[in-house]
Amino acid sequence: MEKKRKVLKIRCDCGGIFVSKQQEIEGLEIEALVCSNCGFVTLTKEQAKRLMELRRMSEAIGEERKVIRIGNTYGVTFPPILVHPGQKVNIRPIAPNKYILTFMR
Ligand SMILES: [Zn+2]
Repeated sequence: MEKKRKVLKIRCDCGGIFVSKQQEIEGLEIEALVCSNCGFVTLTKEQAKRLMELRRMSEAIGEERKVIRIGNTYGVTFPPILVHPGQKVNIRPIAPNKYILTFMR
């Protein structure tokens, strides 16, 4: 069964139509509604909630963390509100000094 995508037809004050797009807000990647005409950016209630969650995560982790030695290996620590012991994490290198970490729920 195909899931129907909810089409939002919200109009901007300028007459343009808002389109859901990946946007960078405060350095965070988030899906937002962007006016196709004037570029005005707004958020749905869900998107605003997502931004607040990302903000909270971003504040918890800070800008930088140090690599630490753990026995014969190295690690990076995470605040306990973000992860839990035993949680699985998928690590994907995207550049020599960049990795995407995806924590399993
Ligand atoms: Zn507009």
